[in-house]
Amino acid sequence: MKQLELLYEGKSKLIYATDSAERVVVRFKDDATAFYNIKRAKIENKGKMNCTISSQILAFLNANGVDTHFVEQVDQTSQLCKVVEHMPFEVIVRNIIAGSMARRLGIEEGVIPENTIFDLCLKDEELGDPLINDHHAVALGIATYEELVKIYEISARVNKLLTELYASVGIRLVDFKIEFGRATDGALVLADELTPDTCRIWDAETGERMDKDRFRRDLGRVGETYQEVAHRICNALNK
Ligand code: UDP
Repeated sequence: MKQLELLYEGKSKLIYATDSAERVVVRFKDDATAFYNIKRAKIENKGKMNCTISSQILAFLNANGVDTHFVEQVDQTSQLCKVVEHMPFEVIVRNIIAGSMARRLGIEEGVIPENTIFDLCLKDEELGDPLINDHHAVALGIATYEELVKIYEISARVNKLLTELYASVGIRLVDFKIEFGRATDGALVLADELTPDTCRIWDAETGERMDKDRFRRDLGRVGETYQEVAHRICNALNK
């Protein structure tokens, strides 16, 4: 597969065309951003670490019956992925209360709810990625009720698989964000990355944060911690 022109540059990734109309190359950058680009930095080797973590996890999901956009890792910072039409919302899955939910509802971080929580957020930075519900999504024409049923089913399956995977390497999966898209054959697939930038993961023994909160909250040792996550995930999945 030949990599061709740059199609899009995002905050943490570059997307290139290829000689196939059904494939793109996704390249991970070292840039870290938070709070809608107000906080910015370069973290050495983050691109490599996130590409490795996301490739390993997406291959694991593909192998366990969750269709994703991931085809293969092509080099240390790049993945070959299916071309997808991204659905303009994020699904956030929460096992432990943290972040915006803790702030918004005045709940202490670390509280474990009785049920898994699924949030939908519209991807619109000017509006601050607002929380929406199923009826809003249907009214906005961005998903049908039938698609939403499937999306929650897939999100729950991803949560089960990832919770077990992280637990096997001594990590608690607090919450994570996923996105969906429609592939060129119309199939609903999980798209985008699954990395410490898009989840909250806490060391099961020490409670230490092993995700982007280290960057957001100036906790230090961002690169070292991402490296530790990559190391544990690779060890677990390449046995
Ligand atoms: N998240 C993300 N991208 C977003 C918003 C959230 O990857 O645009 C992830 C975030 O890293 C966390 C989870 O989704 O793991 C829940 O985020 P939350 O709503 O608590 O927002 P935050 O406080 O992180 O802004």
